[in-house]
Amino acid sequence: EPAVAVDSVTKRYGEGDSGTLALEDVSFEAHDGEFLVIVGPSGCGKTTLFRIIAGLEEPTSGEVRIHGDPIEGPGMDRGMVFQEYLLFPWRTVLENVKFGLEQQDVSEAEAEERAMKMLDLVGLADEAEKFPKELSGGMKQRVGIARALAVDPEILLMDEPFGSVDAQTRDALHDELLRIWNETNKTVLFVTHDVDEAVKLADRVVVLQPSPGRVKEVVDVDLDRP
Ligand code: ADP
Ligand code: ADP
Repeated sequence: EPAVAVDSVTKRYGEGDSGTLALEDVSFEAHDGEFLVIVGPSGCGKTTLFRIIAGLEEPTSGEVRIHGDPIEGPGMDRGMVFQEYLLFPWRTVLENVKFGLEQQDVSEAEAEERAMKMLDLVGLADEAEKFPKELSGGMKQRVGIARALAVDPEILLMDEPFGSVDAQTRDALHDELLRIWNETNKTVLFVTHDVDEAVKLADRVVVLQPSPGRVKEVVDVDLDRP
């Protein structure tokens, strides 16, 4: 079974013909350990697709399966990273990363240890006691990645995660993400409108056409990775 199967997903917002057809019959698979990028122009339904795979939104028809099992809402098997970071401003960096672990049956000591390990992974162990507003955009998103990975999800879902940082920071975060992906062997689904970013990061690229979003082509990227 593939890690993620998106099977004939159609999404219509609103009622009948007056509604917006955001996605039409979208199907593709992501395999275990693969770095899959979903690329397409603004308005093609990328965020909608991300939210459906995350379980935050229900498709009008079709389904998403994780290792063969249809998803039922969000789950700990999928870690999420958003463009706007969505860190809790009233929590420290460490408390942000611990968040998902607190929903699980994990002792306080274990949660702390695991969160610190994740901050180490993204190079932010020294910032553990800071608050999000004290961090740069790039650092905030590294916290976002650490938080998403803390519960050890099988799949990392990322929606334009580097869309709010400058070009130089973005390049550094690309390298960082590829290193983390190598170290953790996660399946990554990464959504972007930026074709260069897609080609730089992906094993495979799912190209969506402009609205309504349909799969135009699926491209294997031949990369010489270090
Ligand atoms: P992208 O992320 O590729 O820019 P979106 O998934 O945000 O695309 O949007 C796809 C289409 O669905 C657009 O036409 C958008 O206006 C519409 N849409 C997105 N979210 C909603 C919503 N909550 N209600 C109604 N229409 C929506
Ligand atoms: P919990 O897991 O108990 O919700 P949080 O650290 O997430 O712990 O939140 C602590 C409290 O702060 C909650 O009661 C929450 O409702 C409240 N809160 C919500 N939004 C904000 C905010 N923007 N700033 C400060 N406190 C907030």
